[in-house]
Amino acid sequence: MRARYPALHWQILIGLAVGAAAGLLANAWCPAQPDGTPHAGLTWCVDNLAKPVGQIFLRLIFMVVLPLVFSALVLGVAGLGDVRRLGRVGLRTLVFTLILSACSVGIGVTLANVVRPGSHLSAARRAALRERYASQAAEQVAQARLAKPLRETLLDIIPKNPFQEMVGALDGSSPGGGMLAVMFFALLFGIALTLAPPERTQPLIRVLEGVYDTVMVIVGLAMRLAPLGVAALVFSLAAVLGSEILKTLGWYVLTVFGGLLLHFFGVYSLVVGLFARLNPLRFFGRISEAILTAFATSSSNATLPTSLRVTEQNLGVRREIASFVLTVGSTANQNGTALYEGVTVLFLAQVFGIDLTLTQQITVALLAILAGVGTAGVPGGSLPLLVMVLQTVGIPAEGIGIILGVDRLLDMCRTTLNVTGDIAIAACVDRTERR
Ligand code: ASP
Repeated sequence: MRARYPALHWQILIGLAVGAAAGLLANAWCPAQPDGTPHAGLTWCVDNLAKPVGQIFLRLIFMVVLPLVFSALVLGVAGLGDVRRLGRVGLRTLVFTLILSACSVGIGVTLANVVRPGSHLSAARRAALRERYASQAAEQVAQARLAKPLRETLLDIIPKNPFQEMVGALDGSSPGGGMLAVMFFALLFGIALTLAPPERTQPLIRVLEGVYDTVMVIVGLAMRLAPLGVAALVFSLAAVLGSEILKTLGWYVLTVFGGLLLHFFGVYSLVVGLFARLNPLRFFGRISEAILTAFATSSSNATLPTSLRVTEQNLGVRREIASFVLTVGSTANQNGTALYEGVTVLFLAQVFGIDLTLTQQITVALLAILAGVGTAGVPGGSLPLLVMVLQTVGIPAEGIGIILGVDRLLDMCRTTLNVTGDIAIAACVDRTERR
């Protein structure tokens, strides 16, 4: 008789708990040196054991993200049938994206003004953090210097060579718009498919359906490793994340957490209750596998296959709508990231004693929403854009070094919201389309 294992989301949750507990214990047994440098033996274990295991899991998923994005989006658009329906679904998606992003940034900026986390950090601690993360901060700033003017950024959404964009889409090395450009190509391809003679395009649609189903099988296999992979990823973080840095940046971390929680339980509950007519608790329960995967991988793109599956199977959203909304959303709708960027910019302004006027704060909010659209759905994808927002409002961008030590932890949390937001929008668009 075959042994019965608990459902996958329970296994992932157990992996998460075991990884976190083991990491915290290891951290307590092998404490960091007084200057904050992690214990050498523990660092060895993390670098040579835990991180590679986590990477195997992540790479198995990342390897299918591009064929999945392409096939899902083309099939989604082709499945919507005609350009008018696509326009309607696209417009609804855009409106929900803007409303959710505006709410999230609003919550973040308001909390940052009320709590004022930056005024709780002494000059000495600030200097120590900047020194410790100086080289990583310099890397991010150098990357942001390569940023192009807005005109070119917008033009780059139309790719010259979609294959070149695909090659660099996950690590940011594309010459043009990266994942957004890949999506543009897929969108146009899908629209063209609906306009070309069906007897000629049917075989191509069958091929893409075959690609989609095959890729989902690979993801299914990779997800069997999820409990172990998740445990390894969380262990790597918890083992070297000093409690000291959490204490130093406690107010900042709490402000981001508080904002994310408010948005998660408040705004999402309201939106899915009102527009998707779903009981919020049931909604969160049904998508828990995607929530946990997002938290553990810190990547909206790596979570895309899981979100597609749970949205379709557990929420009953039609495949063409889920494919369109979730695929586009995994790059273009990032509420958690927008909130985090709003809080971080204000926090760093407070740390440097720069008083941002109301107009500047509104600029920060708008830029944070736009940055959410341009952020790659990979771990740390928002950092280059954060540097750009800081520079726009005249805050020393190297200050990003102050928050890098807790970034991965916050990345896990904000990605959870990014993914949940996409699924909430898919459910709402599907429901409003049925009326
Ligand atoms: N890791 C985030 C995501 O994949 C992006 C970010 O905020 O860095 O959604």
